[in-house]
Amino acid sequence: MSGRRVLVAGAGLAGSLAAIHFAQLGHRVEIHERRPDPRGAGAGGGRSINLGLSQRGIRALDQVGLLDPVLAAAAPMRGRVIHQRDGELDFQPYGSHEDQILRSVLRDDLNRILLAKALEYPNVSARFGVTLTDLDRGSAAEEPVCTFDSASGPYHASADLVVGADGAFSAVRTRLLRGLPADFRQRVLPWGYKEFAIAAGPSGDVRSSPDALHVWPGDDGLIVAHPNVNGSLTATVFLPLSGEQSFATLTTEDSVRALFDTRFPDVRRLVPDIVEQFLSHPTGHLVTVRSSPWQHEGRVVLIGDAAHAVYPFYGQGMNSALEDCAVLRECLANDDWAEALRAFERRRKPHTDVLADLSEENFDELRSRVASPLFLARKKADLVLSRVFPKRWMPLYTMVSHTTIPYADALRRARRQHAALAWGSGAAALALALTGGALARGKAAGPHSPGDRS
Ligand SMILES: Cc1cc2nc3c(=O)[nH]c(=O)nc-3n(C[C@H](O)[C@H](O)[C@H](O)COP(=O)(O)OP(=O)(O)OC[C@H]3O[C@@H](n4cnc5c(N)ncnc54)[C@H](O)[C@@H]3O)c2cc1C
Repeated sequence: MSGRRVLVAGAGLAGSLAAIHFAQLGHRVEIHERRPDPRGAGAGGGRSINLGLSQRGIRALDQVGLLDPVLAAAAPMRGRVIHQRDGELDFQPYGSHEDQILRSVLRDDLNRILLAKALEYPNVSARFGVTLTDLDRGSAAEEPVCTFDSASGPYHASADLVVGADGAFSAVRTRLLRGLPADFRQRVLPWGYKEFAIAAGPSGDVRSSPDALHVWPGDDGLIVAHPNVNGSLTATVFLPLSGEQSFATLTTEDSVRALFDTRFPDVRRLVPDIVEQFLSHPTGHLVTVRSSPWQHEGRVVLIGDAAHAVYPFYGQGMNSALEDCAVLRECLANDDWAEALRAFERRRKPHTDVLADLSEENFDELRSRVASPLFLARKKADLVLSRVFPKRWMPLYTMVSHTTIPYADALRRARRQHAALAWGSGAAALALALTGGALARGKAAGPHSPGDRS
């Protein structure tokens, strides 16, 4: 064990899991986090969004022995329940097998479990309520130096390696890329989101399908609600940031009431205080970030949203962030960290770039396509094909959510499957046309034409 000094900026999901890995490898880890200690009472204001944990995240948690405590705090989701505008409910299973389910977990619960585990190691320490404001990224010969703001004034901290795990709007990333021939693209979705709670209620209403993700689709507004273990749902309403019915205009009780009365009447019935919740909760913003490089001379590396923030519509941001940590650990088997970090970027970036595309496309799917009969027919066909040809056909969603097949490989395989199906259908149609033509000619020529061998 080399026992190097590692500074982790950001104690979110990726930062906390990375700290566990570095600690297990015998390095000395210092975590610096902007927010108060999430393990303290009342941290985070008692509100949190829920995340859908799928196979990649499950595997990454299992590797550090945290799967059981996380599953104990998570609610299973067997599929999605689509709330149609006419009040009809459609259930769409997540997979063709019983075990193909997702788990809904409160982000804050997961964060607390990960951070508590990291801080069990004697070689991990943490400072909370401190914000990274600057980074001198160092070089092969010189350590990187971070500058933080804290209640007691600014301070500097250096390390052998700085891990930028400070989320989608990463300050480490900005400083890492400064002055380098870097590629940086940020796409801000013109929609934002607000979280609200749907309390547990008597059976017979929408909460009678507790083990599902609930979706109220719509081109002009979308609600997604995750189940909790106590029977309540944590919902997120997505709306345009500007325009007629948008976060910019929905600022009065009347306007919010009108939105839910007309667009989501069943939500209005289920959540008597929806207007108060809507007006008092902050609006979040969503970005896709594609950037490169993710690392510098073995001295700085980005992980999770800091490296590759994606829209949340494929439910893979956290899962890919946790998967990053597992891959980074494998790469660190190479003692030459400059090469190890380059290998990490080479292994991950092509796949997270594909995930970014898939997540952008899924915004349209959740908003409108999930409710269309054609989409439903395609989903059913996908599931039937995967049951009939389990070795040859795996829906893209299944590969992304229920396996750890790297994202770009999953997309390539899905395209091959569809091409084969299109070719097969074309060939079948041609065969049918030719057979039909031959039969028609046969009939026209009479029962014993000269070409008839029977
Ligand atoms: C509405 C919504 C729904 C989502 N649903 C899902 C889902 O179902 N499934 C899924 O897999 N993913 C989902 N995601 C994505 C998921 O939340 C993120 O991908 C995940 O949290 C990324 O983890 P992270 O540790 O990289 O970043 P974060 O969780 O953002 O953690 C970053 C940490 O860094 C700290 N920090 C920031 N700046 C500084 C600084 N300058 N100095 C010090 N500390 C700093 C922050 O306080 C924070 O603790 C969703 C996201 C949203 C917004």
